Amino acid sequence: MNHADIVILGGGSGGYACAFRAAQLGLSVILVEKDKLGGTCLHRGCIPTKALLHAAEVADTAREGDRIGVKSSVAGIDLAGVNAYKDSVITKLHKGLQGLAAVNKVTLVNGTGRLVGPGTVEVDGQRYTGRHVVLATGSYAKTLPGIEIGGPVITSDQALSLDVVPDKVIVLGGGVIGVEFASVWRSFGAEVTIVEALPRLLPGDDEFASKGLTRAFRKRGIKVRTKARVSGVERGGDGVTDGVTVILDNGDRLEADLLLVAVGRGPHSAGHGYQEAGVTVDRGFVVTDERLRTNLPDVHAVGDLVAGPQLAHRGFQHGIFVAEDIAGLAPAPIDEDTIPRVTYCRPEVASVGLTETAATEKYGAVETLTYDLAGNGKSQILQTSGGIKLIKAPNGAIVGVTMVGERVGELIGEAQVILGTGATATDLASLVHAHPTQNEALGEALLAMAGKPLHTHA
Ligand code: NAD
Repeated sequence: MNHADIVILGGGSGGYACAFRAAQLGLSVILVEKDKLGGTCLHRGCIPTKALLHAAEVADTAREGDRIGVKSSVAGIDLAGVNAYKDSVITKLHKGLQGLAAVNKVTLVNGTGRLVGPGTVEVDGQRYTGRHVVLATGSYAKTLPGIEIGGPVITSDQALSLDVVPDKVIVLGGGVIGVEFASVWRSFGAEVTIVEALPRLLPGDDEFASKGLTRAFRKRGIKVRTKARVSGVERGGDGVTDGVTVILDNGDRLEADLLLVAVGRGPHSAGHGYQEAGVTVDRGFVVTDERLRTNLPDVHAVGDLVAGPQLAHRGFQHGIFVAEDIAGLAPAPIDEDTIPRVTYCRPEVASVGLTETAATEKYGAVETLTYDLAGNGKSQILQTSGGIKLIKAPNGAIVGVTMVGERVGELIGEAQVILGTGATATDLASLVHAHPTQNEALGEALLAMAGKPLHTHA
């Protein structure tokens, strides 16, 4: 079959979500993927990193068992075993996706596709046409000028398939990828230094998150160098264990076995014929309107190719939206301001909506409330510190929630509903939260903001 209602270029989160939703709506779909269905998220991103982070949590739990009277220790980290576990999770999910593609009767074309005209994609000399084309080729790990990836200088792609735990690592970039890998390697016993150009870790999040995370990381022995830039990198050799020296702009020289470059991801828009076919691209990102339409008729773009938060769940939502739009369901445009963000380091950071700085810029004056997890029973049982910060706009609506602490990522669902409904703390204070849960901390923060704190004081 060479013709379908939709031809999709790229089978990652955005592409396959679009394919499956379109198929459910009775549309025929050809999905072109050069590697494996599931893309970066499943094979080189979210899923493998979170599997490593879970192994890291198990290591920490074993190492710290003594603190709560459970005699335990870590005899060692068998990275081959960790990788086998991680790969088994990926394989299972990959099989699931392939099954869903078959059930949905999505035609999978394995190969590198190129847009050669508004409704036409070419793969290995074969042309596929569609009434609509969806560009979903995702993003890649960027590096910095003068820092070549290879040997001991790696990106997250290589970091996911190391076969030994490095003794010493430098992480360049204290953003999401940087802090997640720093967390994993520290739990596996490595000496870790993060080098971040801006004044704080996770600079895109509220300062409350950066402060809490930096405090916890320092306690864990992770070294954090902020306002630091790399001016040069010297390699010991070409092997991953030959070592590397990182020279900072103040002249400091840091030595390590490995340097992870985690300075952002760039859109994968070159080499796919987009610009040649006339698609407008700005700094590599495909330009779309709020309905994710490019400037070419019936050519849409989804996920990391479109400027905005680079998150798999945004990609899913983009894909679903475009499928429904093409099917004529006229869905409402996606509100990107209420897309939740979770960073799965230890402790976790989870947020939705605005930071205090952004809210102040938008509303002039805002009210904030911070609730310390010290007052939350379940957090004390888990022995985690951290807190929740709520931001209230002048009309009373909660417009930002930021949380730091172990497992707080699991609380993001309620925070997101709060933002999505535009409710006030007074509206929400009567919601009963189960005791003892960490979720209750969010309930208590709402109670406190509504002026009736229970396990804290005003
Ligand atoms: P990022 O933009 O989150 O962080 C990059 C960091 O590198 C920034 O803090 C930046 O200030 C710093 N930096 C840039 N140039 C530097 C320099 N010369 N010297 C020192 N520091 C420098 O990017 P990332 O961490 O690479 O992640 C890429 C994307 O993937 C992000 O958009 C992220 O949201 C997404 N991602 C999300 C998750 C998640 O949701 N849990 C996990 C991994 C990745």
